[in-house]
Amino acid sequence: MPSRAHTIWNIQATLTLPILWSFTALLLAMIIPPPSLNTQLQPVYHHSPRAHIDATGAGRTALILTAHPDDEAMFFSPTIMGLKNHGWEVRGLCLSTGNAEGLGAERVEELKRSYGVFGLQESHVKWLNDSSFPDNMGAVWRSEDVQRAVSEYLSDQPADVIVTFDKHGISAHPNHASLSSFRPAPSSTHPTMLYHLNTPSILKKYSGPLNPVFRRGYYQLAKGMSEWADLFDVKLPVKADFSVTSSGTDWIRSVRAMREHKSQMTWYRYGWLASSGLMWANDLTLVV
Ligand SMILES: [Zn+2]
Repeated sequence: MPSRAHTIWNIQATLTLPILWSFTALLLAMIIPPPSLNTQLQPVYHHSPRAHIDATGAGRTALILTAHPDDEAMFFSPTIMGLKNHGWEVRGLCLSTGNAEGLGAERVEELKRSYGVFGLQESHVKWLNDSSFPDNMGAVWRSEDVQRAVSEYLSDQPADVIVTFDKHGISAHPNHASLSSFRPAPSSTHPTMLYHLNTPSILKKYSGPLNPVFRRGYYQLAKGMSEWADLFDVKLPVKADFSVTSSGTDWIRSVRAMREHKSQMTWYRYGWLASSGLMWANDLTLVV
């Protein structure tokens, strides 16, 4: 059995690297200029027929589908800001109140304030308090319940685009991953496109402001190469359809949104703010 001193040393050793990297990323964030003045929404392929999220969002609605209050700010900030900046009407649907520690009522208020920082009207932010969706690390939400709840919402408030978690749920939280099972009903009058937010590798996840810098270079290259790849019928190892990269100004707004989740701002969340690549860039894959 490991001794107490050994256990403490192990914990310290495990935490040292992320903490060191958090501070390094924070320093880099202050030194490196923002990658662009504008948050960019760009298709990964040069002529992607699947590039539906573009600069002409006027009159179109996007729904951010999340599991807990704070998911929107921690993971989807670049997408929310990118869509807003390009004229999309963004709405938020959160399937729980985040009541794992009995703070549901407080967290709903934080959710509304967070979306308020992103410029959403309060009437466009909805959450559910439904026993089918407990905020619980051990609970996989049933796909039929997710399907029912989101379909009910959409029948009242249709969306052109829905963005939600992929099957890995970014942090491997089963509540997040459960949302990936949702599929919009086929419709000829109001088709809805569904995008998943790609779960990044550990390196990208904690790459802070370096993430958009590398992404833009990498995807620029992929775009150029995709013409040749099509010619020779080669499949490029790029798994996203859309890349969204934040400007420095929008990153600051994302941090402000996250700070509205006061009940969740423990010390390690500041480490997340400093080192998170997802606060700077999102990769989206079109599902349907
Ligand atoms: Zn969550």
